[in-house]
Amino acid sequence: MSCDYIALANQGVQAISPYQAGKPIEELQRELGLDHIVKLASNENPLGPSQLSLAAIERSLGDLSRYPDSNGFELKRALSDRLGVSSTQITLGNGSNDVLNLIARAYLNTTRSAVFSEHAFIVYPLAVQALGARAIVTRAVDYGHDLDAMAAAVEEDTALVFVANPNNPTGTSVDAAALERFMEAIPARVIVVLDEAYIEYVEPSAGAEEIPDGVKLLQRFPNLVVTRTFSKAWGLAGVRVGYALASEAITDVLNRVREPFNVNSLGMAAARAVLNDQAYLEQSRTVNAAGMQQLVEGCRSLNLSYIPSAGNFITIEFGGDSAEIYRQLLQQGVIVRPIAAYDLPRHLRVSVGLETENAAFLRALDIVLNR
Ligand SMILES: *Cc1c(COP(=O)(O)O)cnc(C)c1O
Repeated sequence: MSCDYIALANQGVQAISPYQAGKPIEELQRELGLDHIVKLASNENPLGPSQLSLAAIERSLGDLSRYPDSNGFELKRALSDRLGVSSTQITLGNGSNDVLNLIARAYLNTTRSAVFSEHAFIVYPLAVQALGARAIVTRAVDYGHDLDAMAAAVEEDTALVFVANPNNPTGTSVDAAALERFMEAIPARVIVVLDEAYIEYVEPSAGAEEIPDGVKLLQRFPNLVVTRTFSKAWGLAGVRVGYALASEAITDVLNRVREPFNVNSLGMAAARAVLNDQAYLEQSRTVNAAGMQQLVEGCRSLNLSYIPSAGNFITIEFGGDSAEIYRQLLQQGVIVRPIAAYDLPRHLRVSVGLETENAAFLRALDIVLNR
């Protein structure tokens, strides 16, 4: 006898549509038999990993039969030195997605709500839904978070507010002063999750001196959780390392729901090593800035509008449904990211690649649009 195992799942879980990842290169290779494929779909670092990360992984291979350090002592110490926060304020995660889910698991349930913006990173609605909590979704302004609306949307039962700065998939960002005003407007009983996955790419906005930096706010706001990752500018998406920075009390809570060995030993070794590779980080930024310029100019010459982005990706608008353009780009061997699931069915998100990859994308797009 079989049952309806979907109907038996927790109610929130039943309604989830699973996360749609960028199409893997190998999959498109299998489908089309193409050998040269350009993937600009998952905001990965186009430089490949740092040599220091690779060397650290090689050195740790012999320890693979051992469990990793459950407390991540060495990586936390390196982060602590770099960021000027105590190790007792750091929670390591299997990517920052893991940390986002830990926060949701610790603070949400069926009687609570969470606030996030329209077009925000999709892991927030997924995490909220999985816990059966209520989502309060605020309208975006110019595709970005409306922080005033978000603060005003907080209700009695609100436990969490998610802010992505910059946001994925829109690339929109808020400046340091706006972020500070927002934190002042949020009651201390509500935890603000500030997702800074792309912070390394952010440059000071015109007229502002400072880069918005959650770490600077931690001291003043014990209800703030800053999440960051090694998956983007640090070039380590494949080994899954991210972290949260928060007050000691929140860190204590997250540690209670964390799996004992949630971060693997190769990932921790690679992450610790790349923190010493400032040259790699600088190169990542330089290549990104040049590639962003290249893509922006490409959009202009194709008469396409785009959302100005502070991250390592750009979201381009097409006249109508972009699904067909996505499919035709695949035929040309270029993988980008459809974002209909973010309520942006007319847009496609394109990660900034190496110069040759960006050029290949623009060439393919020209063919697709003008044939
Ligand atoms: C890529 C991304 C992350 C990081 O994910 P990892 O699990 O650390 O690889 C987090 N937040 C946003 C908004 C992202 O785009």
